[in-house]
Amino acid sequence: MRGAILYAPGDIRVDERDDPRIEKPTDAIIRLSATCVCGSDLWPYRGIEAVNGPAPMGHEYVGIVEEAGSDVRTVKPGQFVIGSFFASDNTCEICRAGYQSSCIHREPIGALGAQAEYLRVPLADGTLVATPEVPSADLVPSLLAASDVLGTGWFAAIAAEVGPGKTVAVVGDGAVGLLAVLAAKQLGAARIIAMSRHEPRQKLALEFGATDIVTERGGGGVARIKDLTNGFGAHSVIEAVGTQESMMQALRSTRPGGHMGYVGVAHGVALPGEELFFSHAHLHGGPAPVRRFLPELIDLICNRQIDPGKVFDLELPLDQAAEGYRAMDERRAIKTLLHP
Ligand SMILES: [Zn+2]
Repeated sequence: MRGAILYAPGDIRVDERDDPRIEKPTDAIIRLSATCVCGSDLWPYRGIEAVNGPAPMGHEYVGIVEEAGSDVRTVKPGQFVIGSFFASDNTCEICRAGYQSSCIHREPIGALGAQAEYLRVPLADGTLVATPEVPSADLVPSLLAASDVLGTGWFAAIAAEVGPGKTVAVVGDGAVGLLAVLAAKQLGAARIIAMSRHEPRQKLALEFGATDIVTERGGGGVARIKDLTNGFGAHSVIEAVGTQESMMQALRSTRPGGHMGYVGVAHGVALPGEELFFSHAHLHGGPAPVRRFLPELIDLICNRQIDPGKVFDLELPLDQAAEGYRAMDERRAIKTLLHP
């Protein structure tokens, strides 16, 4: 089969890879209907994260079950399924508490490479959720968004305790930040401030429910959030970047007693203890337990109540994955969908 492989920073190619096969009776093989490039794929692509030899890429996927292992009970061949970036058993104590991305048996999908024609999904019963029927093609991008960026934005909003009447600030205007805006709107936020300086992303944030746009960053951005909230800061702040600057911007935008949900994969972040101590902020985040939210998100999408697939502003055949990465790296595209 064909699949994207990262050979070195900036060098991504679609090459022949071995067809995946059932390795454990709990595995399933899916034929991908669509896959995509994640903001987090750009860390190794940019060389900020080490690349150790040729690595298959991709961890966002929707597709049709091709084959199920002998122990798989909840999904069967022919069904359209969605999973997330960690396979999980969905039965251990951590999973049952809603933290499937820390499942004691978790397996990273990224290592298996979902930017390909086929994918082996471990722990298929716990990982995959089937749609009621095979969805029409126009729903596929939104269902694919649920696999990571929507689920991650949703978790960020839950972690930041977004709710009715609250003022929410979102740091980061990538797909996750934009979908955190959508989540905040769904969860009833009164005011949603999107921090973005890119016009197409501001437009999408407003479509998803943002009420205010702040273009300033760092200290200037924090000052604007304070201006908009009677000097208090926001009740709920979502951090969707993962840098020192964005984490500090989020922390300083949170009012005392407020909540900050951080989902940008942290790179070189060190929070100053004294400032953390005096902030009186609640901090929660990490790799989103997307599996917890999948049934609800699939319902919202299939009933056409939300349209998170709008974050895909570039669609390419899988063979042109390199251009998909480049476009995102150069911020010409918010998010690239790949057709296997
Ligand atoms: Zn588990």
